[in-house]
Amino acid sequence: MPTTVKRAPALPPATLRYHRVRKSVHFFCFLAFLALPFFNIVRFDIPRQRFYFAGYELWINEFGIIFFALMFLMFVVIVSSVFYGRVYCGYMCPQMIFSEASIALEARLGRWLNKRKPDWSARARKGAAGAAFYGILAMASVFLAFAFISYFVEPRDLLRRLLSLDVRTAGGISGAAVTAITFLDFTLVRQHFCSTVCPYGYLQGMLGDANTLLVCYRDEQRECIECKKCVRVCHMGIDIRTSPFQIECVHCGECIDACEDVLRRLGTKGLIHYTWGERGREIGGQEPWYRRMGIRDAKRWIVLTVLLFYASGLFVALSMRRAVLVRVAPIRTTLYSVAPDGTIHNQFRFTLANRGRNPAAVLISMRHLPGARLMLAPNPVPAPPGESLQGTFEIAAAPASEMREVNHFTIVTTTIPDETSDNFSLTFLMPARKEIP
Ligand code: SF4
Ligand code: SF4
Repeated sequence: MPTTVKRAPALPPATLRYHRVRKSVHFFCFLAFLALPFFNIVRFDIPRQRFYFAGYELWINEFGIIFFALMFLMFVVIVSSVFYGRVYCGYMCPQMIFSEASIALEARLGRWLNKRKPDWSARARKGAAGAAFYGILAMASVFLAFAFISYFVEPRDLLRRLLSLDVRTAGGISGAAVTAITFLDFTLVRQHFCSTVCPYGYLQGMLGDANTLLVCYRDEQRECIECKKCVRVCHMGIDIRTSPFQIECVHCGECIDACEDVLRRLGTKGLIHYTWGERGREIGGQEPWYRRMGIRDAKRWIVLTVLLFYASGLFVALSMRRAVLVRVAPIRTTLYSVAPDGTIHNQFRFTLANRGRNPAAVLISMRHLPGARLMLAPNPVPAPPGESLQGTFEIAAAPASEMREVNHFTIVTTTIPDETSDNFSLTFLMPARKEIP
């Protein structure tokens, strides 16, 4: 009598599809990649020597804020690597997003031509698909290079150079070079970059530990049916079953979806999972929220605390920042000068820097120097946005006044319209009484 093999009923499809999540995150990150420099959220503006962060225009001399901003960004990278391994690579990295997009475009063009032009020879279809692919990639490379250089040059300025086909200035030459590199990257290099030269990949290898998120294959019951679908879908060309610690693995989760697809139809769950370390639990179990977030040991609490420290430092530094910076100092090349009418003059220098986007003005006045007058026109001094300027003014006092040889007084600067004030303690010098005629 023939024996009947009893198969377990198929399980419902997995509810969480990492492929779908990744593509949504890719789309969001693509928009963010374009938007960050355009809205001054992050840009190192080299020609202007400015660092744009979270909408603030930081001048190169604002060391404190730039320090906190760079340390904050560095610790975001560290926390992300310690907690979640190379998930950034698989879900958010522009190199990965555009490499996958170029592979998908190439495959889609080939399929489209096969379907629409069945009467063409295979060679003609291949040639047409290749020409269309390289043409689209060339245009996309100009666009992507433009977006990339916008992180270093003001986008409107860059657009002007692009429209005038500038390939003579340093900016134009670097734009053309980045376009060529982008084209070669997304036609030839693609994900090989991630497993060979990407510094973040090597850094992750150093930062990961026994609690870092991994993609891990577990098959204690020997249920693998050797279908190799997990290998076929891996765009990094590896077999996750050999080790969860392969430098090529970007923790994208595509092999998890593939294995779930196959084995759920046979009534079992997939054999590949996101786990906390090689021996740790699978993600998503019943655990306190902080462990589910990846805070699984003291080291993670510490790096998170350091990240919060830099985030708070950055927040405080930005909230204390003033748009208009004012400095006043005496000019002591001559201590004082005596006018023909006998009035004593002292000279001072002021420096204004308007780091904001709106026009401002600075009113300079004086306190605690009775009988003296401040000679400056115009006063308030206009401070155009994005500019710094220097000027001089004089303070004059009659010799008959009650002043001593060294007189302490205060210069008060008031910024208009935000009404912020600075005080500068200075001295007004007079000749010794016996020298006054
Ligand atoms: S997809 Fe799953 S069942 Fe198929 S070879 Fe990979 S691990 Fe084994
Ligand atoms: S092994 Fe899996 S998680 Fe790793 S890169 Fe390949 S498909 Fe992605």
